[in-house]
Amino acid sequence: MTPAFGAQAAKTPLAPMTIERRDLKSTDVEIQIQYCGICHSDVHKVSNDWGNTHFPVVPGHEIVGKVVSRGSSASRYREGDLVGVGCIVDSCRVCAQCRAGHEMFCEKGVTFSFDSFEQDGKSLTYGGYSTHMVVDERYVLRIPKELDPSRAAPLLCAGITTYSPLRQWNCKPGAAVAVLGLGGLGHMAVKLAAAMGAEVTVLSSSRDKEADASRMGAKHFVATKEPGALDALEGEFDLIVDTVSAPHDLNKHTTLLREFGTIVLVGLPPEATVLDVGLLVHGNKRVAGSNIGGIAETQEMLDYCGRHGIVADVEVIPAIQINAAYARMQRGDVRYRFVVDVSSLRGGAG
Ligand code: NAP
Ligand code: ZN
Ligand code: ZN
Repeated sequence: MTPAFGAQAAKTPLAPMTIERRDLKSTDVEIQIQYCGICHSDVHKVSNDWGNTHFPVVPGHEIVGKVVSRGSSASRYREGDLVGVGCIVDSCRVCAQCRAGHEMFCEKGVTFSFDSFEQDGKSLTYGGYSTHMVVDERYVLRIPKELDPSRAAPLLCAGITTYSPLRQWNCKPGAAVAVLGLGGLGHMAVKLAAAMGAEVTVLSSSRDKEADASRMGAKHFVATKEPGALDALEGEFDLIVDTVSAPHDLNKHTTLLREFGTIVLVGLPPEATVLDVGLLVHGNKRVAGSNIGGIAETQEMLDYCGRHGIVADVEVIPAIQINAAYARMQRGDVRYRFVVDVSSLRGGAG
């Protein structure tokens, strides 16, 4: 039995529980989890915001730990290696999407790290708010030695989810890039875009996070709720990365784009939004979405962060504080990623 922390039903507080991990298959590694970041997707899932959660649920997909054992033919990692697991733990491996490195779009159905079906179509997965995990080595990432493990954990989702669209939409030296929402994803977007040479503007609800944004590499900061604040920015940006987790009006933000500019949506609010098509047509503006990133690109991002010394700003908490952390994230009060110290779950303690 593996100690874990999860929710028995929608909107109920998370509490200690136990789960069962599978026996090692030949290409599996067993990981003793050290840290697991808390992504807003965990909060959406526990709240059943997307209406598709299977309970009980053990969230967590920003996982860093040590390899403690491996299957008979697992050869990529050795016992003691520091490794990471992100959102994806399995896929069919042979379809066009898997072969292209887009495992999240596996044509047979990807297996996510929690609240997802294994490739057998029957067993549910449980995530990283737990002491151990068993994962096929093909889906395990190497954490660069230069990076602090607790601060590297959020790279496994917040890092790749912002790195991938920044690369896809040509974030380059001199590009005018805005990041909307300075939470877990947003602060990684700022650090990564600044490292790629962009001139970064943070669009945040209030002025509270202004000093932090500048320390992370942003050149400009705009408090979006101040009257007229956005009017002054019309036509300013080549790229906007929208990380906001709550419903919001996109139309105003599209007016901030230059001609041929792109707003890429990574936030997943639970409600639909209405778009004024004319605002896009006049100026060939693009609205795009982006879903995490594949395994090879995640390793590329980790290696990039290793070379550039990029890690998350974290508040490390024991598991017992997860419910309080969720409440703060729902208020937009996160600086800038909660990371669970999973040693707090060992020995049955909450
Ligand atoms: P987070 O750490 O909670 O940050 C969200 C930020 O949104 C807040 O810090 C806040 O920033 C801003 N915000 C604006 N209005 C808000 C409101 N009414 N309530 C709460 N926050 C508000 O969340 P996250 O972990 O970065 O995740 C952001 C979104 O991305 C979530 O919807 C999550 O599910 C989604 N996500 C998507 C992917 C993907 O593959 N596309 C991957 C991971 C997560 P300010 O204070 O600066 O306004
Ligand atoms: Zn996530
Ligand atoms: Zn596939």
